[in-house]
Amino acid sequence: MYHSIEAAVRDCFGDGVSVVRSDSIPGGDINRAYRMELSSGDWIFVKTNTIHNIRFFLTESKGLEALRSAGEVGVPHVFGAGTDRQRNVSFLAMEYIRSAPRIRTYWETFGHELAKLHRAECRSFTVSGENSGKYGFSEDNYIGASPQNNHPKDTWIDFYRECRLLPQIAMAERYFDPSVRKKAGRLLDHLGDYLREPEFPSLLHGDLWSGNMICGSDGKAWIIDPAVYVGDCEADLAMMQLFGNPPESFFAAYSEIIPIDRKGYRERRKLYDLYQLLNHLNLFGQMYLSSVVEILERYI
Ligand code: ADP
Repeated sequence: MYHSIEAAVRDCFGDGVSVVRSDSIPGGDINRAYRMELSSGDWIFVKTNTIHNIRFFLTESKGLEALRSAGEVGVPHVFGAGTDRQRNVSFLAMEYIRSAPRIRTYWETFGHELAKLHRAECRSFTVSGENSGKYGFSEDNYIGASPQNNHPKDTWIDFYRECRLLPQIAMAERYFDPSVRKKAGRLLDHLGDYLREPEFPSLLHGDLWSGNMICGSDGKAWIIDPAVYVGDCEADLAMMQLFGNPPESFFAAYSEIIPIDRKGYRERRKLYDLYQLLNHLNLFGQMYLSSVVEILERYI
C-alpha cells in the first residue's frame, strides 16, 4: 500500500523520478483512468477512485498478479496500489500498454495463450486462511462494482451455485415476481443436472468481455480489469461470446490445447451467461431482466 502515486513511482522507477504529465483516458466503466508520463521518459497507467474504494484496487492488483504469474497471456505489470491524500483518491498504477496493429495470428495466438493459462497449475490460488478447496480464490473480489464471493469449495457445481448464482439471485429478488423467484430456486436446486464437474480447475480472468482485451505493442491480446477466480474454463469462453465475437480461429486454436466439448458447452453456456446477466441486472437495472428470465425458462 503506497501513500501517494509519487511514492509508488519512486519505489518502482528510482528516487529522483516523478510524474511530469497526466492525460485522462476515456472508456472505463467505474474508475477514472490516466496515462502518466514520468521524468524518466516511461509511461504508466493509473486508475483512480474515491479514497474509500481502495479495496477495489487491492483486489484488482491481486488478480492481475495471479494472472501474470501464470506467464501465459499478456497482463500489465502492477507497480502498486494505495491512497493518495493530496489527490484525495485511491489508485492502482500499472504498466502502460501501448497499442499497435494486431498481428495476423492475433486470435490463434490468444486461443493458445488462454488455453495455456487455463491449463496452468492453480492450486495455490484457492487457499484462504484455514480454508481451501478446488474452486474459488484466496480472497473475495469484485465483478464490475459488485462483490464477488470466492470462498473455496471442493466442487464446481457447489461453488457456482453458492458463490456465483445464489448471491446475485438474492440481490436481484426485487426484480422478480413470485413465478420467476420459484424458477430461480428450482434452477439452484437442479444445477447439477445442467452443469458438470470440469476435468481440471482453471485460473480464470472472470470478466473477459471484449473491452477487457487490448492489443499491446507486440500486436497480441493483453488482458486487463479481471475478476479472477479458479473455476471452469468454459466460463471465460462464455463471457468472451456474451459481450464479444471471437472468431472460429480462436476456438480452433484453443481446442488444440483444451478440446472443447462443443455440444456440452453449447448446452451449458447460458448458465455461465446467467451469472454475468444477473450482475448486469443488479448493476444497470431492468433492461437485463428479460434475458435473465429467458435463461431461467430455458433450463426449468
Ligand atoms: P474500469 O476499471 O473503470 O472499467 P478499465 O480497466 O476498463 O477501467 O480501463 C479504462 C480504459 O483504460 C480502457 O479504455 C482501457 O482500454 C484502458 N486501459 C486499461 N488498462 C490499461 C493499461 N494498462 N494500459 C493502457 N490502457 C489501459
